[in-house]
Amino acid sequence: MTAEIMAQADQVIATTYKRFPMVLLSGSGSTLYDTNGHSYTDFVAGIAVCNLGHSHAKLTEALSSQAQTLWHVSNLYYTKPQVELASWLIANSFADRIFFCNSGAEANEAAIKLSRKFFNDRGENQRSRIIAMEQSFHGRTMATLSATGQEKIKKGFAPILEGFDFVPFNDAEALRAQIGPQHCAVLIEPIQGEGGVRCPESDYLKTVRRICDDNGTLLIFDEIQTGMGRTGKLFAYEHYGVEPDIMTLAKALANGLPIGAMLAKERVASAFGPGAHASTFGGTPIVTAAALQVCKTLAAENIIDQGRKTGEYFREKLLDLKIRHPAIVDVRGLGLLLGMKLNFNGETLVTRCMRKGFLINCIQENVLRFIPPLTIKKEEIDALIDCLDELFAECQSSIKKD
Ligand SMILES: *Cc1c(COP(=O)(O)O)cnc(C)c1O
Repeated sequence: MTAEIMAQADQVIATTYKRFPMVLLSGSGSTLYDTNGHSYTDFVAGIAVCNLGHSHAKLTEALSSQAQTLWHVSNLYYTKPQVELASWLIANSFADRIFFCNSGAEANEAAIKLSRKFFNDRGENQRSRIIAMEQSFHGRTMATLSATGQEKIKKGFAPILEGFDFVPFNDAEALRAQIGPQHCAVLIEPIQGEGGVRCPESDYLKTVRRICDDNGTLLIFDEIQTGMGRTGKLFAYEHYGVEPDIMTLAKALANGLPIGAMLAKERVASAFGPGAHASTFGGTPIVTAAALQVCKTLAAENIIDQGRKTGEYFREKLLDLKIRHPAIVDVRGLGLLLGMKLNFNGETLVTRCMRKGFLINCIQENVLRFIPPLTIKKEEIDALIDCLDELFAECQSSIKKD
């Protein structure tokens, strides 16, 4: 069956993904099972999506119950799950209003549109450009890839949309030099995820906030990867004592059902009046009921604190590995968004880990990224560390032989 599914996929699925030769069948907690009966501890979690792991009983229950009640109605009408989810997010963030959509890219599209509309409404149409960061990632739609600071994402898709300027991440002076009355917003990930798990230096985000305020420019945090407890707080901005004007969420918000959200302060949100923006599926009852249960479960089971402690433990273990293996040049990240930079291409390690029953991920060619469910257990981390320890030792001896 496995070979058949893979062969058929090669015939019928767009070839945009290089997939590992495995067919996943089911999951429970931090473990995934393939069609050959192998199990894997999941340090990818759908790319920081399944923060509560797979087949969480409370989520399954909430989803089944909503599935028997109401799947979808148009946003021409009110529904309870949508309102409850928005209220929970507002009670737990800087924001006053929320626009729901279906993905991270769409949430960023909404943020881009809102920041332009905000100034347009005040007659400041010249304030339309957005400053984004080099090595950032904001999505694959035309506007969000244009806002992404990585050439490989844009290659082949010219004409790239106008209106985006780039400065290096962690360089406040470069931002200060670039920003002007033509800029409606600065768009930034508090921690760059796809760019290689790159953290802000102390006070950098505070300085970015001050520069925005000095210039009357809005600040947008893309927390699509860092949000919903990933970094040890509900939102990463809480670590840095800075609040944005607009924030985007997606990935972990519904633990795997498609959802995106754009959150904003009232002052800014009010620029989105009736007809200004819309989405057919955005905030649909079936998805928002699941997301609401995600939020409630994070809070009721104290999962974010648990994840932060587990993240600290994991980080220590990775730092131990770094002491033993000179091929590891850096260990970084916060909470359970961790990266380990190598002095060689990490793809082979990903494949070798997979053969030993661990799913990990490699970005920017030489950064191993670890983004397991926040409910991952210490023993599961220990097992991965033992596996990596062995693999690095093997690499070392094979390098010495050459
Ligand atoms: C994944 C991601 C996106 C894009 O989200 P999609 O749901 O794939 O459109 C945008 N920004 C960041 C920081 C991300 O990690």
